[in-house]
Amino acid sequence: MENCLFCKIAAGIIPSSKVYEDERVLAFNDIDPQAPTHFLVIPKEHITGAGEINEENSSIVAYIFEVIAKIAKEQGIESYRVVTNYGVDTGQTVPHLHFHVLAGRDMTWPPG
Ligand code: 5GP
Ligand code: ZN
Repeated sequence: MENCLFCKIAAGIIPSSKVYEDERVLAFNDIDPQAPTHFLVIPKEHITGAGEINEENSSIVAYIFEVIAKIAKEQGIESYRVVTNYGVDTGQTVPHLHFHVLAGRDMTWPPG
């Protein structure tokens, strides 16, 4: 989609520090990390966010969690948090579905 930051990162038009890539998804390090490990996993297909998941595109979400587990195993990350923000109240700043994967420090619950 035109003018979508993460579509441009997925297409390689804007560079990123890649963690994992295949034909359906890209994982890359967050530019402003909130934990020692903080990467984002996105579908290459433009989906605005969690509220736009439907029966046609939902399989990508299962696949993203499969990829997250694979990356974590490869990197020896045994404990991690997966977060997706949707809508202004949550602080979603990029309207392209993305899952934050955070690890490497103690994390509070509830998240605030
Ligand atoms: P949100 O606030 O929408 O849940 O998360 C967006 C995330 O994207 C933020 O954690 C922010 O640091 C990250 N981000 C924004 N712009 C860029 C960028 O150009 N490159 C990378 N790698 N991360 C970005
Ligand atoms: Zn997009």
